[in-house]
Amino acid sequence: EYKGMSKERIMEIRRKNCNPMTMKITYYKKPVFLHQGYMQWLWDFDGNRYLDLFAGVATVSVGHCHPKVAAALQRQLNKLWHTTNIYVNPTLHEYSEKLASHLPDPLKVVYLTNSGSEANDLAMLMARLHTGNFDLLTLRGSYHGGTQQTMGLTSNSSYKYPIATSSGCTHTMCPDVFRGPWGGSHCRDSPVQTTRQCSCAQGHCMANDQYIGQLKETFATSVPSRIAGFFGEPIQGMGGAVQYPKNYLKEAYQLVRERGGVCIADEVQTGFGRTGSHFWGFQGHDVLPDMVTMAKGIGDGFPMGAVVTTPEIAASFAKAFHFNTFGGGPLACAVASSVLDTIKEDGTQQNSHNVGTYLMTELAKLRDTYEIIGDVRGKGLQIGVEMVTNKASRDPLSPEAMSEIFEDIKEMGVLIGKGGVYGQAFRIQPPMCITKEDVKFFLAVFKKAIQRYMDKE
Ligand code: PMP
Repeated sequence: EYKGMSKERIMEIRRKNCNPMTMKITYYKKPVFLHQGYMQWLWDFDGNRYLDLFAGVATVSVGHCHPKVAAALQRQLNKLWHTTNIYVNPTLHEYSEKLASHLPDPLKVVYLTNSGSEANDLAMLMARLHTGNFDLLTLRGSYHGGTQQTMGLTSNSSYKYPIATSSGCTHTMCPDVFRGPWGGSHCRDSPVQTTRQCSCAQGHCMANDQYIGQLKETFATSVPSRIAGFFGEPIQGMGGAVQYPKNYLKEAYQLVRERGGVCIADEVQTGFGRTGSHFWGFQGHDVLPDMVTMAKGIGDGFPMGAVVTTPEIAASFAKAFHFNTFGGGPLACAVASSVLDTIKEDGTQQNSHNVGTYLMTELAKLRDTYEIIGDVRGKGLQIGVEMVTNKASRDPLSPEAMSEIFEDIKEMGVLIGKGGVYGQAFRIQPPMCITKEDVKFFLAVFKKAIQRYMDKE
């Protein structure tokens, strides 16, 4: 119990004093009442232990309450917590330099915020002020935040309301090589391939040509000839770990730049070693963005976000007065600095690559066994498992069926995520300290849940 409160009392307060929407998003029919976390583990108030394979949407990077990060927070807690944007304190400077050292030239100017939405909001403003253009482009199925500005950029009906959001945001076709009209076995950069037949000739990706053709059509029909910028997640997160054909982002960046726009990589989910092979998701696409936005894993669960950009864009933006009371506060910077050290010391990125590749390879075997697992994809520990009614139609599995399997997995002690435009994808984005043993346990649980569902059907 927390301060003598029973579960019933907590739910009563939730009904009366909390956002009514929270009643809908307890995530499970029987909510998980979290008590404590340690590394890849969570415990509820009844003492049940869960293997956390979702990390609150890739929010915990190096581990829940990681001892090194917790110690760094504790040290700063007794020194100073205050705004440091009108006074000077070393924490912001130590962290800004360290973060910048993790990015290639010329991405060296750091703006610190408190969340991913704030970071993207800021990046939208910067792109517009720097280019003098207004129109922004992103992919369908993308998620970039919940503020009025970023809601306009986000493309998913679940986050759309009859209110004025940022105008000038256009959503172009998502080059989803499994669910989209074009795609094939060799389209994407993943340790596992799609099961779709490939129509490529001589190593040339025909699907990419088609999706780039769609992008060109968007340029011809839906935006002015000069645009402000393009936002893209290196692997679409809320969209269900959707990966694009190789070279798509590279060609898209070129088309955007030809129209005067800047390119922004939204690394809120994919940054900090999550994709395993690279520290940043964009590096897997062989592109160099003009801005990188980040949050979630940056603080291992502590609220924080950032935009990193070039001195040139920063100079344009310096004409505007920008202020953020808590962005880059001493507590956040102490935590985030320790997160960067910990990633290095614990070999987190390498672990993400090793364990993630093993997990995906094993999941692909289940995909080849079960009719309702349509696709397995991702990189490192940013993984999607797309569920279908059957492989031939690729129709999304119903929300009821998804929910049944999802709840069953939780009852067996594993927390995973759901996503995709139709809620048809399971998402696996754990704290990056998970082990091969954890993966073996999850695979046994997943197999059992799928088998139980299929036996009932
Ligand atoms: N961008 C992406 C890719 C995200 O997944 C999210 C959050 N799910 C955001 C931006 C917004 O971040 P926040 O919730 O911290 O505002």
